Amino acid sequence: MGARDGIPRSELGRLALASLPGVAVVLFDGALRATACAGSVRDSYGLPPDDIVGLRLEDLLAEDSLPHAARGLRLALGGRGTVLDVRTRRPEPHVLELKATPLLDDDGAILGAVAVSRDVTAERAAQDSLRESERRYRLLVEASTDLICRLAPDGTFLWVSPAVERLLGRGPAELVGRSACDVAHPDDRAAVRALLQRAADGLDEQRQTYRMAHRDGRWPWVEMALRAIRDPVSGSIVELVGTGRDVSDRVRAEDALARGSADLGHFASLASHDLAEPLVLVRGYADLLRDEAGPRLTASDRRRLDVIARSVRRMQSLVGTLLSYATVDRSTAGDEQVDVAHLLDEALALLEARIAATGAEIRRGPLAPVRGDARLLGLLLQNLISNAMKFCERRPVVEVSCVERPAGWELVVTDNGVGIAPQDVARIFGLFVRVDAARFPGLGLGLATAWRIAELHGGAIAVESTPGVGSTFRVSLPRVRG
Ligand code: ADP
Repeated sequence: MGARDGIPRSELGRLALASLPGVAVVLFDGALRATACAGSVRDSYGLPPDDIVGLRLEDLLAEDSLPHAARGLRLALGGRGTVLDVRTRRPEPHVLELKATPLLDDDGAILGAVAVSRDVTAERAAQDSLRESERRYRLLVEASTDLICRLAPDGTFLWVSPAVERLLGRGPAELVGRSACDVAHPDDRAAVRALLQRAADGLDEQRQTYRMAHRDGRWPWVEMALRAIRDPVSGSIVELVGTGRDVSDRVRAEDALARGSADLGHFASLASHDLAEPLVLVRGYADLLRDEAGPRLTASDRRRLDVIARSVRRMQSLVGTLLSYATVDRSTAGDEQVDVAHLLDEALALLEARIAATGAEIRRGPLAPVRGDARLLGLLLQNLISNAMKFCERRPVVEVSCVERPAGWELVVTDNGVGIAPQDVARIFGLFVRVDAARFPGLGLGLATAWRIAELHGGAIAVESTPGVGSTFRVSLPRVRG
């Protein structure tokens, strides 16, 4: 045999002495019998060094480790080193990482096989439990119906979960290596590029809803959330992790809602023109009839004409309310400095007739200026004050105030009206909801309009009420719109 890698016999003693704690060295002869040992053999094999010499391989190792341990040692006896894991025979088997190396004399002739081993029981158990937890996470990720993916910072898919099959009718392999932009609808690519850029800039979780290409030619809407993963040492962004969910149904519903709202707006503008016009005619002819046929009309004819005139007036007011809701619904709220005291003056001027008819007392609390849309906030005040006077069975006392809070402003309208039963509080802000339609005229749009105006300002409206005592409506208008 020629020159080989190996440990000269003369080196064995030095090697044993220098061996690290926990390292055991056992020398085997050609019959795989231990002929010498050194180092931490007791720790590794559970036997004192003197007992080891003379034992065979099967006396030291567990049965299932014997075949490959024997093969490794024979390879060493043949001049080639190997590294393998073996389990020892002792009552609680230890796992040893065993390096089998030929032992050479000074001339390079093989004298035996040296087994240098290190106890790796704890290490292997930790690796096993890590593998097990990885396996569980992988199962979780693979079983998820949401698409889960890893992308390079430039947006190339690195790994894609099997859920992509259900979402896009494509296997993960069809996406890996492609850019997220490639599989986005051409009209949405700029938005996807911007999403990737925001995520790769390391901002918090970024979301975008866009269309992805399904194998069958459809374009399902997917809401994708991306988050950057940083290298724990350098802090630089190494990957993006994304989750995608099919939101086609939601997008369709939102579209239908938007269409519905557009339809309502369309209907309302038609209503204002096409319905208002005949109403003007009806009213005009009723007045004309009363004037021209006056002397010939009986008292009951005149009562009937009065009913016609009243009904037409009511219809005109309903058409106006409907138009006003539809206009608000389609508005966006401006962001200007609004003088609430001035808004209140304007609202009261418009409600003058009703204030006079009911003898209402309007009290002004503190009135801070706010930021928002003057036209919409004026309408909101008008609706709340008009309700406060309408739903009241005594002389109305209405107080309006507006105070500044750390997060924004609170607009408050308090009345001494009939109040609202607890079970009705949650529903009165809905479209066309009226609680006591027989007693109070209305269309059920006043509070829905107020709700929408608060919403357009990023705020909210709420009510506290005691039946028989009165109600307080509070509108919060945040300084920063969410
Ligand atoms: P409408 O005034 O046309 O009935 P709203 O949307 O303005 O419609 O109000 C919905 C319902 O909420 C009303 O029918 C009424 O029952 C109740 N409501 C509104 N404002 C008040 C109030 N200030 N006091 C008592 N009830 C009120």
